[in-house]
Amino acid sequence: MKTASSSGAGRAGTPVLQKLFRRLPPVDELLRGAELSALIAREGQTAVTQAARVVLERVRGEIAGGRLDATGLELALSGLPAAIERQLCLDLGYSLRPVINATGVILHTNLARAPLAASALQHLGEVAGSYSNLEFEIASGKRGRRDVHVERLFGKLLSDAVNTTSSELRSERPARAPVPAPATMVVNNNAAAVLLALNTLADGGEVVVSRGELVEIGGSFRIPEVMAKSGAILREVGTTNRTRIADYERAITEKTRLLLRVHRSNFQITGFTEQPSLQELVDLARRRGVPLMEDLGSGALFDLRSVGISGEPGVLDSLRAGVDVVSYSGDKLLGGPQAGMLSGRRELISRMRSNSLFRALRVDKLTYAALEATLLAYVKRDHDAIPALRMMRLAKAEIERRAQAVAAKARTAKMAIELVDGESVVGGGAAPSAALATKLLSASVQDVSADELASRLRKGNPPVITRVEESRVLLDLRTVFPEQDELLASALMAAAEA
Ligand SMILES: *Cc1c(COP(=O)(O)O)cnc(C)c1O
Repeated sequence: MKTASSSGAGRAGTPVLQKLFRRLPPVDELLRGAELSALIAREGQTAVTQAARVVLERVRGEIAGGRLDATGLELALSGLPAAIERQLCLDLGYSLRPVINATGVILHTNLARAPLAASALQHLGEVAGSYSNLEFEIASGKRGRRDVHVERLFGKLLSDAVNTTSSELRSERPARAPVPAPATMVVNNNAAAVLLALNTLADGGEVVVSRGELVEIGGSFRIPEVMAKSGAILREVGTTNRTRIADYERAITEKTRLLLRVHRSNFQITGFTEQPSLQELVDLARRRGVPLMEDLGSGALFDLRSVGISGEPGVLDSLRAGVDVVSYSGDKLLGGPQAGMLSGRRELISRMRSNSLFRALRVDKLTYAALEATLLAYVKRDHDAIPALRMMRLAKAEIERRAQAVAAKARTAKMAIELVDGESVVGGGAAPSAALATKLLSASVQDVSADELASRLRKGNPPVITRVEESRVLLDLRTVFPEQDELLASALMAAAEA
């Protein structure tokens, strides 16, 4: 390791170096300087002093390492206030900060999935900065339950699911007697929802799952491991590519507590494959008196067919088909805060509510506030208020118009930008094969590699996250908020000059 004394190889003591060291101002003198007074007023004496010490120590190291001569030192000294300010930004800056998502992946797990609706932010702000009726019944003045706050809205959104069943109308099946509307409860995320459901419904008993659905979802959510933690015993049936209804049927014994179907989310099995239909599973579950649960993952409350995505099961589809309990995330296709929902038969949901694990998995007021506002947008059918849905519904022509405007601004002698056809991705494990046609900006700077350009864009403020494909930097405005277009153009220009 290089230190001042070892790397100086005895030179630290040389008269030349000592002369340089003596040019360094003491910290208190530096702090008394006019240039730092505004910074001290804004950020406080303590923080500025600490930053000044760090910067001076760095300069000392450079002198000792022989990397600064007299001229270099003069330059460094004149830049001290600016260097201290930069250090202070590092010291006091937030770790979690906004970025511009130009990847075109709408629900990007690494970039915090769904951005919240403006109404969600507003509701969250007013509820979080004040006392609220989180667990208080205003009418009676008595203690209340926190999970009532989104029950009414989920009830509205899901109530017609179990009775006006389009699938029943299509089949010859006689209509069932009216059943009560599904109940919904909220926990910390979908992983927690699955854990709570398995523990409540199947602790000590068996859960039948197809071998083709034993998935791992990003962030190490693995069905077999969650199953083990829940206390339920995994009963695998079928094969990776083919599972028939008869496989499920044969596996059901007096130990069976639950049939579980899991959305494969982030992968597909193609070729020689077979999977029973949801209806076959529902019929089997009914016949054998075992509940059926479906882990939907993304769980859309919005009909994706309207944006040309088919084959992605919605929450309503599953409940209509007769699935007893579904679980889904709040921050995937729903477009709200991180949360996990369990919707389904009242009696099963209320057993989960009384499980003491629920206390450990429950969500706070921030989540309820953001979720309630997001659900309200669904109730009002104001889908464009929810950023993830708005981005999904964005027309290619609109993206192209914005891309042209950004290109026109950011194109310089150094930066070449062209528009190319491409595809945006929904992400979040939803519709892994579905793609939305888009227009991409393809940016390049002469003698600068695509990786280097992407890295410069990431280092900007705010950081711009892009795709790099075939040594091109690609930017998709579908996931960029229109009000960020100007910022993005400036970021591109800055990256060309860096
Ligand atoms: C995403 C996903 C999960 C995990 O959901 P989180 O909300 O991230 O905890 C579980 N199951 C499936 C099928 C998923 O797609």
